[in-house]
Amino acid sequence: MKMFINGEWVDRDSKIDVLNPFDGSVIDTVPRASVEDVKAAIATAVKGSEIMAAMPAHERYKILHRASELMAERVQDLGRTISTEEGKVIGEGVGEAGRAVETMTMSAEEAKRLYGETIPLDGSTGAEGKFGFTLRIPCGVVVAITPFNFPLNLVCHKVGPALASGNAVIVKPATDTPLSAIKLTEILVEAGVPCEAIQCLTGSGSEIGDVLSGDPLVRKISFTGSRDVGEQICRNAGLKKVTMELGANSPLVVMADADLEKVASATAVTGFANAGQVCISTQRVLVDQEVYGDFIEVLTPKVEALSVGNQLDESVSVGPMVREQDAVRVGSWIEEAIQDGARIVTGGGREGSLHEPTIVADVDPGMRISCDELFGPAVGLTRFEHIDEAITVANNTNYGLSAAIFTENLSDAMKFVRGVHSGNINVNWGTQWRADLMPYGGLKDSGMGKEGPKYAIEEMTELKMVVIH
Ligand code: NAD
Repeated sequence: MKMFINGEWVDRDSKIDVLNPFDGSVIDTVPRASVEDVKAAIATAVKGSEIMAAMPAHERYKILHRASELMAERVQDLGRTISTEEGKVIGEGVGEAGRAVETMTMSAEEAKRLYGETIPLDGSTGAEGKFGFTLRIPCGVVVAITPFNFPLNLVCHKVGPALASGNAVIVKPATDTPLSAIKLTEILVEAGVPCEAIQCLTGSGSEIGDVLSGDPLVRKISFTGSRDVGEQICRNAGLKKVTMELGANSPLVVMADADLEKVASATAVTGFANAGQVCISTQRVLVDQEVYGDFIEVLTPKVEALSVGNQLDESVSVGPMVREQDAVRVGSWIEEAIQDGARIVTGGGREGSLHEPTIVADVDPGMRISCDELFGPAVGLTRFEHIDEAITVANNTNYGLSAAIFTENLSDAMKFVRGVHSGNINVNWGTQWRADLMPYGGLKDSGMGKEGPKYAIEEMTELKMVVIH
């Protein structure tokens, strides 16, 4: 496929292969954007930002609504593209495409809700008789940099709100999974987004990222990806607005009064969907020592029931990891934990990019499999004696994106809700749950700023204060 700059679909001699993670076959190629391509895209986006800022809200609404209709018509193709380039099973791929349609629809609706407010200036001495109000205005040029693991919906979470609030946007999709974003760009252009206002640059983040994030003409960066790349972007960005949606090692606390069947079912879903490559995957399962053995017994058959294989085979529940080297890394972290005293309950095997769903028991919170982001199909079990200890362990990390507790006791649930430092908290489900309209984002090293169309629009706009004297 080609990338889209300055209203044209362009190719380059230097290309990047897009691979099917299951067998390494080349599905397609995309051009490797150069620094000159980035500069051209930014110059065009400046014009695009003027066009968008002048466009009435009802027109922005209509265009985005039309885009969501086109996405809905092509949902099967989009879902298959996601699965083929990313490796998630086809049901999850089509599910993501369906969510992306909703994200775009909600973004369209938000185009009509850019409210300001009147400010009661007479509350300040000497300001009587003056009239104050705020205007919400677009930032201008928005750069959207996205990760591999949700190659369509997370692009929509940036592009939808950016366009809805009158910005121009340049998308830089993940190097491994650019095809879904290119198809989305085709749809946006077809729906009527001015071609100066939507561009899609394919290529390597490490080659073009600094030019893209450092340019002062870019007024807002919305980034989803790893902690380290996020930090690099923040250092490079200088004085501009940034939203950072970063990684995590999310804890799930299992209290002794929990329904272990429910916890086990939730763990099998929230720890292993997309082969564990979800920013809010359940990674650290902290279990009350009273039910530790029983929980392992209930969880094991549920994890063993997850079949592993070709993501396009509808009977498969866990597909490949995005790259074989990631499956190798997950295996080596598990091995390291075993050497330090943990034990494998089930799984542990690997064939190419396929890593078996794995339960590791007796994990010490200091082990890498617990304190770093694993981002793979394994959960680590650690026992605790008291809820205070569980909260301390849950908080003993630089991350804070999602946390969960299973309990029938409201006081324990509220103690956890208040005590745990996390942007998203689930009671009686695992850490992986998101409705696309809710405010979503992390604390601490998991990032800053919120997504969800309404909240992303707040991040992608500025307030002007006006006083009539
Ligand atoms: P990554 O950080 O490797 O890459 C993300 C994007 O950044 C890619 O498009 C990449 O090309 C680009 N990039 C790389 N170097 C860059 C640079 N110097 N300047 C600008 N851009 C650069 O992440 P990934 O491996 O694609 O995704 C996995 C990570 O994303 C995990 O840490 C996961 O937790 C996180 N994630 C977070 C959320 C969230 O909402 N918090 C959601 C999904 C994924």
